[in-house]
Amino acid sequence: MAETMHPLSFSNPKKRNPTDGDDANDHRPLAKKPTSAAWGSDPAGSLANARHEFGEHGGVNMSIEASATFTVMEPDTMRRMFSGELGPDRDFFIYSRHFNPTVLNLGRQMAALESTEAGYCTSSGMSAISSALLQLCSAGSHIVASHCLYGGTHALLSHFLPRSCGIHTTFVNISDMDEVRKAIKVGETKVLYVESMANPTLTVADVPALSAVAHEKGVMLVVDNTFTPMVLSPAKLGADVVLHSVSKFISGGADIIAGAICGPASLVNSMMDLHNGALMLLGPTMNAKVAFEISERLPHLSIRMKEHCHRAMVFATRMKAMGLRVIYPGLEDHPHHSLIKSMANKGYGFGGMLCLDMESEERANRLMHHLQNTTQFGLMAVSLGYYETLMSCSGSSTSSEMSAEEKARAGISPGLVRMSVGYSGTLEQRWSQFEKALSLVLQQDNTFSYSKN
Ligand SMILES: *Cc1c(COP(=O)(O)O)cnc(C)c1O
Repeated sequence: MAETMHPLSFSNPKKRNPTDGDDANDHRPLAKKPTSAAWGSDPAGSLANARHEFGEHGGVNMSIEASATFTVMEPDTMRRMFSGELGPDRDFFIYSRHFNPTVLNLGRQMAALESTEAGYCTSSGMSAISSALLQLCSAGSHIVASHCLYGGTHALLSHFLPRSCGIHTTFVNISDMDEVRKAIKVGETKVLYVESMANPTLTVADVPALSAVAHEKGVMLVVDNTFTPMVLSPAKLGADVVLHSVSKFISGGADIIAGAICGPASLVNSMMDLHNGALMLLGPTMNAKVAFEISERLPHLSIRMKEHCHRAMVFATRMKAMGLRVIYPGLEDHPHHSLIKSMANKGYGFGGMLCLDMESEERANRLMHHLQNTTQFGLMAVSLGYYETLMSCSGSSTSSEMSAEEKARAGISPGLVRMSVGYSGTLEQRWSQFEKALSLVLQQDNTFSYSKN
């Protein structure tokens, strides 16, 4: 059905002809039309220009469409919906595992955030990743991926997809364009898969260069932008598909598991196809109530990201000045500092994640113990994007799916403490808690020579 369905009217205002009447037969009030291109460079501006959905009774917030199924006035309408003649772009809905109005609206907001033609949301980041890959690949297809990826994605590519579908992945160093180019098998390789900022080593993907290589070889560039919403806009830099674990910064509350797929309308539509759609048939549906929750948080994502990034920059600068081994793309000594500077949206900084290399797992654990249990600087937990600082030792937690050699190749040292810098409390209060915990670690450990002075 969806193959013949009308392309959905998505919200990228640049791509929408203001006179095409798309919204003319829509009864709801509309957002202001874009009047200048100035907002377009800031994802917060694009998001604010997406159509604002009001509630059924004029509420400032959209209503939650909690129905699993939808009724029609005339029997023939059902036939026309199933033939693809009437679709969600004209407010005709069939069943909520297919398009749901509330989830569709969040999808439009996500598309606006990422400057893609379309977007749709899923029940988790992993379901967004696996469905997108299964849609773009067939049995026996080949993927080229960065060797430095979120552990779950790495396991999906190295174990699950080869076993279940014969989809094999070649892992490469994505900073080496020759290696990337050589790994692509023309005709067989369908996807080049990277993370815009990689978990956990914070290496940054050169999206314009990777997209040039991918497109020269007829391959789709798929970018997981979970670490850097607002900061980086991969689609504007040449990516074809942008994926998110919405569970992280976008949610911000560490209370929701969700995902998003942003890309061409043809891809989103094909994913809802009755016969061949990965979202329709595997069914990783987002609940409408969850979509509403996330939609309420998107308007302050920009403010939250700025504060995450600001504090990460201040902490990284001070940690470095103390002589600690800190990895942060905002620092000039980071190998990808000038790259991220050339790609980042203005005013956001360099991300809310930083890594501290404590050289051994034992010392990393001692620091985290004091940071949580003695000085209340943050919490030992995986995940990221929460208002409290979250800390984990990547090698033994989120990247534990990788073998020792794979970790070494990706630059994950056993003492690497990954921090998602929160914004609760005051900056100086948190810094003094960090200093106190560090001094306690040093009192018990005279072999750690972190200080250069
Ligand atoms: C957490 C995470 C995922 C997986 O997302 P879930 O919402 O937990 O399924 C994928 N990619 C990255 C970079 C992540 O941090």
